[in-house]
Amino acid sequence: MDITLQQVSYAYAKNTPFEKRALFDVDLHIASGSYQAIIGHTGSGKSTILQHLNALLKPTDGSINIGDVEVKADKKNKQLREVRQKVGIVFQFPEHQLFDETVLKDIMFGPMNFGVPEVEAKRRAIELTQLLGLPEEVLEKSPFDLSGGQMRRVAIAGVLAMNPKVLVLDEPTAGLDPRGRKEIMDLFYTLHKEKGLTTVLVTHSMEDAARYADQIAIMHNGKCVLEGTPQEIFAHEERLTEFRLELPQSVRFQKKIEQMIGKKLPTICLTEES
Ligand code: ADP
Repeated sequence: MDITLQQVSYAYAKNTPFEKRALFDVDLHIASGSYQAIIGHTGSGKSTILQHLNALLKPTDGSINIGDVEVKADKKNKQLREVRQKVGIVFQFPEHQLFDETVLKDIMFGPMNFGVPEVEAKRRAIELTQLLGLPEEVLEKSPFDLSGGQMRRVAIAGVLAMNPKVLVLDEPTAGLDPRGRKEIMDLFYTLHKEKGLTTVLVTHSMEDAARYADQIAIMHNGKCVLEGTPQEIFAHEERLTEFRLELPQSVRFQKKIEQMIGKKLPTICLTEES
């Protein structure tokens, strides 16, 4: 399912003394099956874009096409529920949204709320706990008795249980240790590759974008200022500095080698240490 933003502008508290413009004429095309990273400093507009991707926010100007649903300021949409099922968002610290008595009930809550029969919701919950590397006995436990890493996995399972076509990840590894970070990021990558899940990663980590994404969009002061493949983006080292971003370590390492041997290497090599 493609998502296309056309000249999207957004202002918080529009027409009040507190009006704050957060997005300016953003054009962005997220192709079905791609892994798109959206990078930028704090305040650059990443979260505001993210909330447009499943129509939690509507553009104040411009339009966004989410699959075949067009979302515009002045347009009433009957299909927003459907859009929210198709575009799953894993918000920062998703474990804060756990609430049910048991892990099983928590994961089943979303699909059952959308009319999925109980048997099918349960089947999905069991399959997802396995996929996310959680032991089966957690299903009957209270989510609040789990470790932080396990709670995050349960919350992610809850989003995946809706069978989204697009998965949007908002700094999904915030607060995890390096091992937990890599496990979770690798898991999302496997889902993307094996199930063809369109993935949008909102992050300030150039390393994660370099390692996983096939398209990168850079946000700066509410504008999408650079867009392209990682190789295209990393060719603009001077512009990245302008946006207070740095080349990933691995790419800097590659450039150093290229300088040493006096020729370009064919692809950006990403080392395990990077
Ligand atoms: P990022 O996710 O890149 O940190 P945001 O999308 O959160 O950026 O913010 C973009 C701009 O919008 C910032 O200037 C921020 O202060 C402002 N902003 C974000 N949320 C609100 C809000 N609820 N009300 C008013 N201004 C906001």
